[in-house]
Amino acid sequence: MINTHHFKEKLEVEKKSLEEELGQIAIFNTETNIWEATPDKEMMGEIDDNDAADRFEDFEERSGMTTTLQTRLSDVNRALAKIENGTYGLCEVSNDPIEEDRLEANPAARTNKAHMND
Ligand SMILES: [Zn+2]
Repeated sequence: MINTHHFKEKLEVEKKSLEEELGQIAIFNTETNIWEATPDKEMMGEIDDNDAADRFEDFEERSGMTTTLQTRLSDVNRALAKIENGTYGLCEVSNDPIEEDRLEANPAARTNKAHMND
């Protein structure tokens, strides 16, 4: 039997740190429930052309990072919801138990090892 309490703690720690990281590069849009990368202040106002390309790259980077973190956060939230409804630790493809070492490495894993590439 899986110790869901143990994994819930791990997931909550990860959720907190993901939200902190997102908070530094993005703002949460409460209408769409989506994290949006924040533009540079300089992009909104005066900026000389030499810097413009660099700044844009920074924003692109932040957008990419925001997407990555947001995807991870939604997996974590999904796993927490599964703990609540009693389906945590079951493969979403086969419904077989997910190996404990896999959950230990990734508590938000959605599939067991047999279906990790599905
Ligand atoms: Zn499976």
